[in-house]
Amino acid sequence: MVELRDTRERPLRDLRISVTDRCNMRCRYCMPREVFGSDFAFLSKIDILTYEEIDRLAGLFISLGVEKIRLSGGEPLLRKDLHELISMLALREVEIAMTTNGVLLPRYAPALSAAGLDRVTVSLDALDEATFAAITDSGHTVAAVLAGIEAAESVGLGPIKINTVVKKGVNEDELVDLVERFSSRDIAVRFIEYMDVGATNGWAMDDVVTANEIRNIITELKPLQAQYPGEVAKRYRLPQGGEVGLITSVTEPFCGDCTRARLSADGHLYTCLFASQGLDLLTPMREGASDTDLLALIESCWLARDDQYSEIRTESSPTRTRVEMSYIGG
Ligand code: SAM
Ligand code: SF4
Ligand code: SF4
Repeated sequence: MVELRDTRERPLRDLRISVTDRCNMRCRYCMPREVFGSDFAFLSKIDILTYEEIDRLAGLFISLGVEKIRLSGGEPLLRKDLHELISMLALREVEIAMTTNGVLLPRYAPALSAAGLDRVTVSLDALDEATFAAITDSGHTVAAVLAGIEAAESVGLGPIKINTVVKKGVNEDELVDLVERFSSRDIAVRFIEYMDVGATNGWAMDDVVTANEIRNIITELKPLQAQYPGEVAKRYRLPQGGEVGLITSVTEPFCGDCTRARLSADGHLYTCLFASQGLDLLTPMREGASDTDLLALIESCWLARDDQYSEIRTESSPTRTRVEMSYIGG
């Protein structure tokens, strides 16, 4: 296999695929309702990759070194018959994970697991219903997410991880409860520094609870070795057993190890979460490009990659043209 390396010698190992830009929640930090309201122009069906197209591109990425695929969105479980895509991908030599807000897992987890999904990460920012409601702004409940986690566990979609975005003045007082709730169950909670992704969430550095502040809230954390190069979360052992992760993109960036590519629902390849432009693969594919043609496009894009946004971010970094996380896949 060709070992592709970008301009900073980073290989291509992970592919995140956004299967839809739509969502059944309106988290304030991701899809604020005043922007993503009833008149927002989401992608239309004809403009998004079919499952056959996703599977074809996945095969090309795997031939270039991708070992893990993560399905994301928007909310991936809103895409109809997602298990069909998973059963296609499961025929390939690749690990398949998914990030979801969890509320549709009770309905879909059995079919997803049977189709070959390996594991899920569930996003949950608070156990307190009122705090959760204020963050997610959607009428869904903590109880529904917890039911989703149970459903995923019961069909073997573990080890499950929880993603918690921490925002100042919003949910710092939830962190200890989240760790206590999940640490005894072999479910690792990963605290994510609130990021300036997209252009709609009104991010300010003052809203970030830093990794250091989190380490002061969850005390006595013992650092663990990374399991592989490019691991996104810094992992820690808790005194009572169990694990916690910190995703420190803002205050302790990890661009040097970033091996992730992202494919948007409309078939554009992005080499950084903070990119403003992607490489259109859907149009050439629909115009009849061969696998060799598509491979050449992907290869030259990765070879030219020099992204390091989090290492050079300033509070005044321009946001106007940055793509939204719900579009590019978290
Ligand atoms: N809807 C699914 C979910 O919420 O799990 C998948 C897509 S979501 C964009 C993927 C992850 O991105 C979630 O864990 C979410 O909390 C995180 N996320 C979204 N906006 C963020 C932000 N501004 N800063 C940090 N993480 C963010
Ligand atoms: Fe939807 Fe996930 Fe974004 Fe929340 S974080 S609005 S659940 S895509
Ligand atoms: Fe990777 Fe871009 Fe994030 Fe750096 S800022 S870790 S290059 S996605």
